[in-house]
Amino acid sequence: MSAPTEMVREGSLEAPTRHPLDWQNPDFYNGEPLNRELERVFDICHGCRRCVNLCNAFPTLFDLIDESPTMEVDGVNKKDYIKVVDQCYLCDLCFMTKCPYVPPHEWNVDFPHLMLRAKAVKFRQGKTKFRDRVLTSTDNVGKLASIPVVVSAVNATNKAKVTRKILDKVLGVHPDAILPEYHSDTLRKRLQRRDGSRIKVQPASGTRGKVILFATCYGNYNEPHIGEDLVRVFELNGIDVMLAEQEQCCGMPKLEVGDLEAVARAKEANIPVLDKLASEGWDIVAPVPSCVLMFKQELPMMFPDDPQVGRVRKSIFDPFEYLMLRHKEGKLNTEFKKPLGKIAYHAPCHLRVQNIGMKTRDVLELVPDTKVELIERCSGHDGTYAVKSEFHEASMKICRPIVTRIEQADAEYFSSDCPMAGHQIENGLKRAKQPVHPLSLLRIAYGL
Ligand code: SF4
Ligand code: SF4
Repeated sequence: MSAPTEMVREGSLEAPTRHPLDWQNPDFYNGEPLNRELERVFDICHGCRRCVNLCNAFPTLFDLIDESPTMEVDGVNKKDYIKVVDQCYLCDLCFMTKCPYVPPHEWNVDFPHLMLRAKAVKFRQGKTKFRDRVLTSTDNVGKLASIPVVVSAVNATNKAKVTRKILDKVLGVHPDAILPEYHSDTLRKRLQRRDGSRIKVQPASGTRGKVILFATCYGNYNEPHIGEDLVRVFELNGIDVMLAEQEQCCGMPKLEVGDLEAVARAKEANIPVLDKLASEGWDIVAPVPSCVLMFKQELPMMFPDDPQVGRVRKSIFDPFEYLMLRHKEGKLNTEFKKPLGKIAYHAPCHLRVQNIGMKTRDVLELVPDTKVELIERCSGHDGTYAVKSEFHEASMKICRPIVTRIEQADAEYFSSDCPMAGHQIENGLKRAKQPVHPLSLLRIAYGL
């Protein structure tokens, strides 16, 4: 099959639109129409090739085509399509930043959603690896690993060379990937110990001045200090912060493996709680961009007609987006105590695709004697991709340009809104330097 070339203009002049994910249609899981759609889109990509350096999915596709007997998509064995799918970690960059053929263009290319559909089919066919099911069960793993008597053993296992080799063999977790540390004193425990005094709030620029902190699995179990830094910074800025009485994983890791039923269950647990709080006047923030994106984009794509999902979408913010909105009305404290010098700052994919601009950079640059060097590249971590034995080396290759930029920047700090991307870069730097989260940097600048 060839992509139509005549009478079709190069790229769309209209703003991209995204069709909801048709995941409740039984045909969504039917292998035949899926293969036809994969062949159609792969053929368009073959004729375009703009995305060749975005990730490993496109080079895998183009190699399959170029090495096939016909050197066209029709020469590729359909069984090999999954090799392309497995390389996609749903960062959305091809859709958001590169593709001229996204809807409303008549070619209707939504590469990430097509990959997601193929992952969902693979999941339903029971072909998803046990390792991937474990790695994406962040809530259950976090609950277990953070039990006080278990936590030291888990952290020691994740660090020791001998046990990492076993993990590689038994589970397929690469021995050189940085695995997150677990804490028994979780963020939720730490914040529940705070006194109950509330701040007198002031709304500004569409923000209500009181936020629910969606702790996230990573923020709760792995790096609780980031949430604590958020609370200190927000409270200094007159923003009241509270935890929701309950939360579960946002569902992003399960989306990554195509387990859409698990995403739906996570939505059922979180959305009613967050919607109730939003209706009581609370905004929502989360310290991990992927989790914010889940509520801003992925759930609305899966549940376009659910009014609760729509209301939560409107109420959730990236933390720096929130601070910058309030700055517009002079509601950001700019009495900084400490300059930060030069910061090599990585803007992660799941933040960039939120289309909110570079708000982290903008806030950090308000600190006197502070210069932010912006790096807009994929780190290749993307949830669990970088820790899998078969993908780790490819992920480090994807990360290499960021590592080079940071080495050349010779900055006081390097930073990323995504803590996992930060550690992926740290790995590329041979652990010579550790990332400092932008919220932690802001806390340092305030002298808190
Ligand atoms: S969504 Fe990201 S990982 Fe997937 S194909 Fe597009 S650029 Fe590559
Ligand atoms: S996703 Fe779009 S821009 Fe990327 S290779 Fe395919 S057709 Fe080209």
